[in-house]
Amino acid sequence: MCYSIPGKVLEVADNFVTLDYFGEKRKARNELFTISCGEYAYAQGGFIIQKIPAVQAEAILDSWQELFFKLKEIDERLARDSKTLYQKANQIRQKYHGNSCCIHGIIEFSNYCRNDCLYCGIQHNNQAVGRYRMEVAEIIEAAVFAVEKLRFKALVLQSGEDEYYDENKLVAIAEGIMSQSPCLLTLSIGERNPDTFEALYRKGVRGALLRFETSDPQIYARMKPGHSLTQRLDLLVALRKMGYLIMTGFLIGLPGWRKEDIIKDITLTAELGAEMFSFGPFIPHPDTPLAGEGQVSLETALEVIAEARIRNPEAKILVTTALETMDKKNGLQLGLMAGANSIMLNATPRRYQQLYSIYPFRAGTDTEIESRIEFVIRLLQSLGRAPTDLGL
Ligand code: SAM
Repeated sequence: MCYSIPGKVLEVADNFVTLDYFGEKRKARNELFTISCGEYAYAQGGFIIQKIPAVQAEAILDSWQELFFKLKEIDERLARDSKTLYQKANQIRQKYHGNSCCIHGIIEFSNYCRNDCLYCGIQHNNQAVGRYRMEVAEIIEAAVFAVEKLRFKALVLQSGEDEYYDENKLVAIAEGIMSQSPCLLTLSIGERNPDTFEALYRKGVRGALLRFETSDPQIYARMKPGHSLTQRLDLLVALRKMGYLIMTGFLIGLPGWRKEDIIKDITLTAELGAEMFSFGPFIPHPDTPLAGEGQVSLETALEVIAEARIRNPEAKILVTTALETMDKKNGLQLGLMAGANSIMLNATPRRYQQLYSIYPFRAGTDTEIESRIEFVIRLLQSLGRAPTDLGL
């Protein structure tokens, strides 16, 4: 099963390409390829990320044709009810996005961090965590494997704020991946000099995942000693101006956070022009100063997704790993049925996964990626969702 359906190019106008998917027309920006009508390409996040030979594309489309319409029917049926808040949100998701659900692979390449965020298990002060760093070649190899063998079309590379990876190393990583296995590449590396992000954009990186964590400046300053919310927001605004797709959001339930803050936090996510909303429940880590704090209920975390969907019908909304961790059996399905339409799967080499311990017992770290993918595809099919991202 492919996580993306190739589209047939119908029209090329300036930097935009119109693609056909079984009669549905979508637009995607093309900045990286020479492309003509009649050719086939993959789009992710509204960007053309790969061209694909016609023979290969037609074989994939043949295998999808029947399933595509069958899944749509299931999704429409499941989205009919709109009695509860979650159902209402799911109906809106269905109306605006159809049954497409984008799947990102995430590679966590280093757990070194110069910061001391009170909530985070890989904070600099935590002596109890075993540290690891993947070398540049190892990161490229893992990413190429994720695209070529695991068939991800969208990848996120994440790390603590680790200055070992200077601009040259980051550029080499982006260049290595994009030259061998083009994909929608997103970086989640914390705060860096805007010039570094400019250089990475030139190498084909198109996504920036950077949560603002809380819209309350006082909570922010308490949680991230030595940092300010303004500094984080300024960077997000600058990244958007550079052309990056912004993935951002907040931690649900940090100490001091109140349920009344949900709307304020969702509004800020939307104001930042987020392409993808990422809201994770805060899960206390035993080796941090917040070890003894409580956490929000699963219902509250789902309510955030539903509220965000109702207020922002067009956004992509992620089921975060933290939400899945709260209910490993049903969390993913509950998130998808409360308005979410994006998933992130952990494609970090197994030997490092437990070490990236931002909070304990993270979902997905106890299974091989191949079986996790199988499980997720089966779940998506049972819900009538197609693991695709068709573009704009
Ligand atoms: N260094 C990058 C940054 O600052 O954005 C990316 C890595 S950071 C570990 C990724 C995200 O993990 C943070 O944005 C934060 O929201 C989340 N996180 C950290 N500790 C967490 C916890 N205890 N519970 C839930 N999420 C947590």
